[in-house]
Amino acid sequence: MSESSILQEGELERLRAQFPVLAQRIHDAPLAYLDNAATTQVPQSVLAAMNGFEQHDRANIHRGVHTLSQRATDAYERARAGVKRFVGADASHELVFTSGTTEALNMVAQGLSVSGEAPAVIRPGDEIIVSGLEHHANLVPWQQAARRSGATLRIVMPDVQGSVHIDDLKRLLSPRTRVFALTACSNATGYRPPYEDLLALAADAGALTVLDAAQAVGHSALQLGTLACDFMAFSAHKMYGPMGMGALVGRRATLERLVPLRFGGDMVDWVTLEGAGFTGLPARLEGGTPHVAGTVGMAAAATFITAVGHDRLEQHLGALREHAAKGLQRIDGIRVLSPDAESSAIVSFVASDVHPHDIGTLLDEDGIAVRTGHHCAQPLLDHLGVGPTTRASFAVYNTHDEVERLLAGVSRALKVFR
Ligand code: PLP
Repeated sequence: MSESSILQEGELERLRAQFPVLAQRIHDAPLAYLDNAATTQVPQSVLAAMNGFEQHDRANIHRGVHTLSQRATDAYERARAGVKRFVGADASHELVFTSGTTEALNMVAQGLSVSGEAPAVIRPGDEIIVSGLEHHANLVPWQQAARRSGATLRIVMPDVQGSVHIDDLKRLLSPRTRVFALTACSNATGYRPPYEDLLALAADAGALTVLDAAQAVGHSALQLGTLACDFMAFSAHKMYGPMGMGALVGRRATLERLVPLRFGGDMVDWVTLEGAGFTGLPARLEGGTPHVAGTVGMAAAATFITAVGHDRLEQHLGALREHAAKGLQRIDGIRVLSPDAESSAIVSFVASDVHPHDIGTLLDEDGIAVRTGHHCAQPLLDHLGVGPTTRASFAVYNTHDEVERLLAGVSRALKVFR
């Protein structure tokens, strides 16, 4: 762990000790978990918060007069306030808990393209713009929304290096642009687009703006109040929190325009056999019993990140990424995608003549967990002409020793398979 100067002497060891899963060996080697862009691991503080809820406060929320139900409701609403603070939401914003980024983005794409009490926001002849960087979760829902509403889907494509340019978006925006949806960081390459400027440009042109913050929320200090962003989506399991948990946060006025995805209990004001009236935000978009322990864990994860500090986290991850990218580029026949990506914890690469699955399988033999394949971003990798890649992605507990093991493991894999 010698090169980790950003986290104080001994601190990295103490941080690692908070993650029980890391203490194991895989194929007789210490686990080096470098698949954090898919899912990060969970610290003791998050496990304790969730266990505490399940052991002492578990009950259904919002509709009980008994003590446990009130405690559960308090825990749920405290978690909402904590996560809102964490992403810099202000008084004009509201946060809706979801099962993850995917549900949050579907909630927006569907909620804008179906009719409810009012006509759908997206109508025939309108245009939706997404970038060519997107995870399928921020592409397919928009394809469906366009199909459903008779709108046209336009794509602002990245250049051959995988970077998106302001001028290209300018050319696509028109008075018919209803929505612009963009990722804060490509999960397939690690590239971070200038999302602040791109969102502002689209908002100036009159579009509703959507930010997929799944790959930013684990380390970047998101300040929603300073962004031209109507809707932001993220997942707890990419920020040291539980799986199956996430949030949609955005301006109250635009969230109110969404037709709910789920109708049922907790989101209605009144119901007759003929119809129903719906309650206000956030409950209006949270039909059914939520994953209350998950919300408690998500808020505890936000507290964990805040305690480490966004600046130090970004520096630590940036140093690991740079170490890995430079080391990989020195290996013959390796191409690193977006090698100079900033504010990123992802390094994605291809090797001439060796399939990523072979590299990943050999790395696993060395106890190193990476992800291989298209990373749910097939159109982007096709556009870059690379196909499937091997992706290493870092979290607070990763070390420079683990990067060295990755580099040695990749070199070994290439020798075996070439
Ligand atoms: N968007 C991006 C950029 C992602 O990386 C991911 C997951 O990898 C998602 C969306 C989907 O997140 P989830 O599966 O938690 O809904």
